[in-house]
Amino acid sequence: MIKVDYNKCCWKDGKCASCDCEENNCGGCVEVCPVNAITRDKQVEINAGECLECGACAAVCPHQAITIE
Ligand code: SF4
Ligand code: SF4
Repeated sequence: MIKVDYNKCCWKDGKCASCDCEENNCGGCVEVCPVNAITRDKQVEINAGECLECGACAAVCPHQAITIE
């Protein structure tokens, strides 16, 4: 089961609350997903029904905010 830890994810209420996203490639979680299961509007949302649990988003996240258990 894939999970987002919203305490660790810096994207809050539609904007970055801490890091320089472009420099850190934060948001890469959205771009790397091969099935477009992640959206980042108000907050990061993962459509668990579409997720393949490939781990690509977790690997790219600079804040270790995504885990697969
Ligand atoms: S890369 Fe990580 S910290 Fe950045 S938006 Fe995605 S889940 Fe949040
Ligand atoms: S684990 Fe893979 S398929 Fe699932 S949301 Fe992350 S990148 Fe997309």
